[in-house]
Amino acid sequence: MTRIIAVANQKGGVGKTTTCVNLAASLAANKQRVLLVDLDPQGNATVGCGVDKNREGGVGYDALLGERPLADCRMRLKETGFDLLPGNGDLTAAEVALMESEQREQYLRRALAAVVGEYDYILIDCPPSLNILTVNALVAADGVLIPIQCEYYALEGLTALLDTIRRIQASANRDLSIDGLLRTMFDPRNNLANQVGAQLRSHFDDQVYRTLIPRNVRLAEAPSHGLPALHYDRSSRGALAYMALASELVRRHRSAGPVPTVAQGGD
Ligand code: ADP
Ligand code: MG
Repeated sequence: MTRIIAVANQKGGVGKTTTCVNLAASLAANKQRVLLVDLDPQGNATVGCGVDKNREGGVGYDALLGERPLADCRMRLKETGFDLLPGNGDLTAAEVALMESEQREQYLRRALAAVVGEYDYILIDCPPSLNILTVNALVAADGVLIPIQCEYYALEGLTALLDTIRRIQASANRDLSIDGLLRTMFDPRNNLANQVGAQLRSHFDDQVYRTLIPRNVRLAEAPSHGLPALHYDRSSRGALAYMALASELVRRHRSAGPVPTVAQGGD
């Protein structure tokens, strides 16, 4: 069974893109068939995979709006072993077009329908906003992965995201679950990070991934080489952490499965 995971948090710079690219590579290294969908007009995931975001040919825009089949727009990345649906600034135009459309929340779900059976995991890198692109991701997804940087304002905005998830559960996607909250850029020497990390555990319990993603310079450097950390420096702490996350994720899905409802709590 395919699992479609939206990686979402309307805060920018919390590690959504880093998580998408590195988790995709780690899942692929675990012999999972993976499609990464870059739904952010900034196209950072596309660049981080070594793809020219302004290349000729299909991008997420065409697939999202149904102008071309998604199968014709995706790319196979030989070195890293997963597929990418590239994204770029055209997605901003797609956002405008969607706003004027009927059933504007359903476009990504429809675009993915034709290829869904070809993958074990589809990861969607969301823009830093609760806009119609993110809503499309949440409607298409089975679960949401929420990267959280453990700092003072970490929980600010989480309530708005959880409210959006509840609204989508109540309308377009009853089965949407929170797959997990992921603590990113974690520095165990930082007391505040430890406090916020513990606070997340007490509010959200098992919905917090046990795997912690450390702050690691290799994770920050790898995108400028167009590679996931696993293919840039496979023994780096960052690469190892994302390998551990991939194992945890696969284990969770194979055992009890994710918690189906949104936990109470928040800010
Ligand atoms: P988002 O997609 O949520 O905006 P990014 O994944 O682009 O966040 O991360 C923001 C910045 O932080 C990027 O420059 C990225 O390279 C860097 N970064 C992300 N995760 C880590 C990490 N664990 N250690 C060090 N740098 C990181
Ligand atoms: Mg991003």
